[in-house]
Amino acid sequence: MHGGMPNTLDIRREYDIIVIGAGIGGLLAAALLCKHFKTLVLEKLSFLGGRFSSFNYKGYELPTGALHVIPHSKGVFARALKAIGIHGKTSEAWAEFLWEDRRHRVSNLLTAFKTFKSHEARESFIKVVASAFFGIHTEYTSFGEFLGKFRNEELYKCFKALIGFSMSVPLEKVSKSEGMRFIRNIVLLGKPLFPESGCKGVVERFKQVIIESGGEILTRVPVNGILVQSGEIRGVSASIGDEQMEIKCRCVVSNASPSETLRMMSEKDAVSELLRRAGSVEAAEGITICVSSSEKLFRSCEVVLTPSARRISGLIQYEQPLAPKGKYLLLTHQVFRGGDVRKEIELGVEDLKELLPHFEDNCEILGAHTFRDDWPVNWAIQGEDFDVRLPVRGLYMVGDGCKARGRIMTEGIAAGVLKVVRRVKKDLAG
Ligand SMILES: Cc1cc2nc3c(=O)[nH]c(=O)nc-3n(C[C@H](O)[C@H](O)[C@H](O)COP(=O)(O)OP(=O)(O)OC[C@H]3O[C@@H](n4cnc5c(N)ncnc54)[C@H](O)[C@@H]3O)c2cc1C
Repeated sequence: MHGGMPNTLDIRREYDIIVIGAGIGGLLAAALLCKHFKTLVLEKLSFLGGRFSSFNYKGYELPTGALHVIPHSKGVFARALKAIGIHGKTSEAWAEFLWEDRRHRVSNLLTAFKTFKSHEARESFIKVVASAFFGIHTEYTSFGEFLGKFRNEELYKCFKALIGFSMSVPLEKVSKSEGMRFIRNIVLLGKPLFPESGCKGVVERFKQVIIESGGEILTRVPVNGILVQSGEIRGVSASIGDEQMEIKCRCVVSNASPSETLRMMSEKDAVSELLRRAGSVEAAEGITICVSSSEKLFRSCEVVLTPSARRISGLIQYEQPLAPKGKYLLLTHQVFRGGDVRKEIELGVEDLKELLPHFEDNCEILGAHTFRDDWPVNWAIQGEDFDVRLPVRGLYMVGDGCKARGRIMTEGIAAGVLKVVRRVKKDLAG
């Protein structure tokens, strides 16, 4: 049988690797492994990409999750994209800071001190960045607690916006050490990268690479069991149409959430501790408001941070091909801290009205989406991630419940995937 989107009746009963889920974690893992091993990707939904895709609404590409931006142009994910021919635009500036009374574009994090009015804020900012590079962070403190010690509102608001936009968590939920690693990586791994055709373009290219290399992908196939015997992977059970099928394999790479992966395992003795942890790990939650604008309000493909807003941490503006000709798509992000969703969205819209002087005349709200429960921003808050390895031979996890330390979002996922790929190659060679 040839690689591709097979007819479900053609499915082989035995593979080297089965990837559960075609989110960006599963697709990257499959793309890197299918050249060497017989690989099958099983996705329960009707589309590929999970929270890294978009749907077209009135000509605008509204995200299923990711705001069409790759965190670092020199990171491992950006390099993986380049290797398969995905091009993008690296942001000219690192970010624009939009305060209530001023705007500043800064070329990199190190020069962001210029955005502050007060001398104290500038001095404190430099101390924080210096501490990220030269400090030793052993004690457990939250990043918020650490910043609070400077007693400077401008400084606190700046990091609240940055962490809110980058990790979708309040400052108090990130450890100081994770905040410090992230700051180092902002400097070392480059500015944001915007793939040419947004998330969907990236996913389409991954699909093409997997199929051309002989891998197979099936959609609408939920996996409901991971078959483990005597501490070793035997295969998975999946619903294919009305049929319940067992498919054998030597390795399983699960892109389902850590708790779902653990729950699906047929032998749980070795993972009881992890199951307990999975019950208590918090997800990062957020809200995105999608706005159409008839006027260009910002430079396209640049991150705009909004430190003085009450709810919104930042936004990005896009034009063609993610918006119709002559129109602009603004995507905002705010942390969801719980409480009344409607109220939180209303507060986000109020922020927009305050930040954008001609909002009422030029803008139309296309939709507001909350990301939580079984569709969160990240399955684990940055720094609270699970290890990609499980105590079962041949079973690994990928995705945003197992991001690498200090590497956010898809950059953290990709670093985890690379670790898994190395181990799977070793397992299957032996
Ligand atoms: C509002 C928002 C903004 C974001 N912005 C950015 C951004 O700009 N840049 C960035 O890098 N990241 C961003 N992120 C984060 C990024 O979107 C996610 O971290 C990433 O897409 C998660 O990918 P994943 O592969 O881990 O999981 P998912 O995308 O959830 O993929 C998992 C896949 O597995 C499938 N699956 C699950 N269980 C099963 C099963 N039992 N059987 C078969 N299939 C199964 C699911 O249907 C899904 O398709 C954002 C997220 C949100 C929500």
